Amino acid sequence: MTVLICGAGIGGLCLGLSLQQLEIPFQIFESSVSIEPLGVGINLQPNAVRELYALGLKDPLKGIGVQTEEFGLFSKKGLEIWTEARGLKAGYSVPQFSVHRGELQKLLYETLIERSKKSYVSLGIRATGFKNLSSSVQLKYFNKNTKKNEIIYGNILVACDGINSNIRKQLFPDEGDPLWNGAILWRGLTAASPFRTGASMVMIGHDTQRFVSYPISQKDSYGNAKINWIAELKFNPEKIYMKSDWSKKVDKSKFIGSFKDWSFEWINPLSLISETSSIYEYPMVDRDPLEKWTFGRTTLLGDAAHPTYPVGSNGASQAIIDARKLAFHLKVNGLNEISLLSYEKEMLPLTAKITLANRSSGPDALLQVVEDRCGGTFNNIQEIISQSELKNHSEKYKSVAGLNIERLNNADSILSSLI
Ligand SMILES: Cc1cc2nc3c(=O)[nH]c(=O)nc-3n(C[C@H](O)[C@H](O)[C@H](O)COP(=O)(O)OP(=O)(O)OC[C@H]3O[C@@H](n4cnc5c(N)ncnc54)[C@H](O)[C@@H]3O)c2cc1C
Repeated sequence: MTVLICGAGIGGLCLGLSLQQLEIPFQIFESSVSIEPLGVGINLQPNAVRELYALGLKDPLKGIGVQTEEFGLFSKKGLEIWTEARGLKAGYSVPQFSVHRGELQKLLYETLIERSKKSYVSLGIRATGFKNLSSSVQLKYFNKNTKKNEIIYGNILVACDGINSNIRKQLFPDEGDPLWNGAILWRGLTAASPFRTGASMVMIGHDTQRFVSYPISQKDSYGNAKINWIAELKFNPEKIYMKSDWSKKVDKSKFIGSFKDWSFEWINPLSLISETSSIYEYPMVDRDPLEKWTFGRTTLLGDAAHPTYPVGSNGASQAIIDARKLAFHLKVNGLNEISLLSYEKEMLPLTAKITLANRSSGPDALLQVVEDRCGGTFNNIQEIISQSELKNHSEKYKSVAGLNIERLNNADSILSSLI
């Protein structure tokens, strides 16, 4: 009786920790030969944070992240369009966190190792394919340690192998590469004084040029925190194609010229970019929502199932919720297809809505409305767009993403009835 999990990213590790909580045997197979703190900042929404707290990670999470207090939209001139409270400040019973993706992954990995009697994570194992059998599933992989192709059997296979999932590729051979909308994101971390509340996430600009930033650490003794930033420019997607690789490093000269006038009283994007040594390039890609994730004893989870544009702070949060829901159904129904289908029925429609909303009506969508109406310059924002239009848009997105405050505060963690 084993659940085979491909990928020790945020989704795969949360699934492992959840199955461990429920005493369901599992084994994780990770392609990388070591877990290094890769990536830059990500946000964890309160629904996901509640699940991490239920995994006993409340104190360690506070140690590695910042409790987000505010979210704001600003025009390309740095003028305030809309701000709203986030996390505890907004009335959620659990916080929203901004964290380093790699530090979160390391925390999950080390917690899993610490809590295990044997090693449940096999590193250097790249899943290459699978075969569903009548009472088991066969995982095929390349073992980087032995340099051999090998196989293993389990009861269930869960593909948590990210946006370029090999298992998804086998299920949907004609799907091709992720879909690119023409935008390129350059991501970096700079030590600087945090702006506004000290725990604010801001989006500045419009559809073709944007700067997103938030701190992901507490202040050091000099008053500086690690400030995560994403500079974004849009190009014609027909002209070039960019492969999605989270670890591609580039030089700032590729884009800094476009941000030479971006320096405002309260935040200085130009100097944040200038002072960063490691910059990572990533295309704004997603995939069309699937009609099905489950095929016999195999299913998809996290980015392998529903990669989405990173505009609504949902990628990691939804992978965590997927993991907890799947663990719930595996405990209730057993290690069989019924559990996988019940998980899919609950999560697929919700995540499909988020993917589609992030394409055109994510939290940032009103930036372009303001740009179209006034070119980003105004004396009084209410003359450009009404506060009720801004509020309605924000509430609508929260409802799509399952972040309604009252509903969330009234619910328990997903596995609470089983532990
Ligand atoms: C190196 C890296 C850096 C990232 N940086 C950022 C960032 O800066 N900002 C952001 O918003 N999001 C980032 N992400 C994506 C973000 O982590 C995910 O969107 C989100 O956490 C969903 O998690 P996931 O577990 O589904 O996928 P991921 O976190 O992508 O994890 C997938 C895991 O599967 C492993 N894997 C891939 N192929 C195979 C295979 N064939 N066999 C076995 N294992 C495999 C990968 O090494 C990885 O550990 C990054 C992802 C990676 C892998």
